[in-house]
Amino acid sequence: MKAALYRGRHILDVVTHDLRPLRVDEVLIDVEACGVCGTDVHIVEGTSRSNPPVVLGHEYAGRIVDRGRNVSSHTEGERVAVDPNIACGECAYCRKGLVHLCSSLRALGVDIDGGMAEYSIVPAAQCYTLGEEIAPEVCAFVEPVSCAVHGIDKARIATGDAVVIIGGGPIGQIMLQLARVAGAAFTTLVEPVAEKRALAAASGASRVIDPREVDVAEAVQGDLPEGADVVIECAGLPATAELALKLARRGGTVEFFGVCPLGSTLPLEPNQVYFKELTIVGSYINPHTFSRAIALLQQGRVTVKDFSMARFPVDGVHEALRHHRESLSLKSIIIP
Ligand SMILES: [Zn+2]
Ligand SMILES: [Zn+2]
Repeated sequence: MKAALYRGRHILDVVTHDLRPLRVDEVLIDVEACGVCGTDVHIVEGTSRSNPPVVLGHEYAGRIVDRGRNVSSHTEGERVAVDPNIACGECAYCRKGLVHLCSSLRALGVDIDGGMAEYSIVPAAQCYTLGEEIAPEVCAFVEPVSCAVHGIDKARIATGDAVVIIGGGPIGQIMLQLARVAGAAFTTLVEPVAEKRALAAASGASRVIDPREVDVAEAVQGDLPEGADVVIECAGLPATAELALKLARRGGTVEFFGVCPLGSTLPLEPNQVYFKELTIVGSYINPHTFSRAIALLQQGRVTVKDFSMARFPVDGVHEALRHHRESLSLKSIIIP
């Protein structure tokens, strides 16, 4: 079968890969769709950790076509989304219930062969049943939505809150929808690209701000004289992380969700954190949020139908990554 194999920094090959036999607790998935994520780009550029050689792709779903003999929870023909993050269950973090912080965490598409392939071997425990009504492209969003759901949990939005989201990529757009579902009364999205601002406005943002046109802090202050209750940074830049701290009201919460370059830093005035009594939180991957992500997508409470998507076969993986890097569409999806 065809697969996009990452071999080492800047070396990504489309190969014909033989499938090994299934272990007793694994299923074989005929991949329907696999999203391309910033992490994939960073892995290929050598700036995000991975364990090559490995088939990339951690945002995927498909149909079970075979199963190991101990698998009783899933059957052939079933449609499933794959939670790529595999916790050990035994370390100190796992035993505290913090499975996402597992000290031996491994991920499909990062450490173990993932979903940018025609087929993928997956531990049955990582599979979540999907309805037939969800389109294949939408299935590829379960994983990113599950990460955003964790972000929303950690941001602790109260009904009626004012929420500012910085960055209008797929995650920023999903965050915006989730903030509204969580009860935010006033939502602001900050994004320089016009199409992304238009998408956010169409999905109900109270206000969209172009940071190239206006001073963001002034614009936010115009709507929210005290500042925002919650600011969620989804751009992954030190400059926007610094901005996020400025936009929060006294007693507000700032969440760093976007992945800033490793080693980057920002100036922080501790006196302001003290005086404003800021809560600064991080959010990492998707502990116990997969089922909720599926429910939100299945019920249409989160929708990606208006996202511009570019579809590529496995052979087109380089083009798909280029599309992502150059933001030629909101999301690139591999459809094997
Ligand atoms: Zn991802
Ligand atoms: Zn563990």
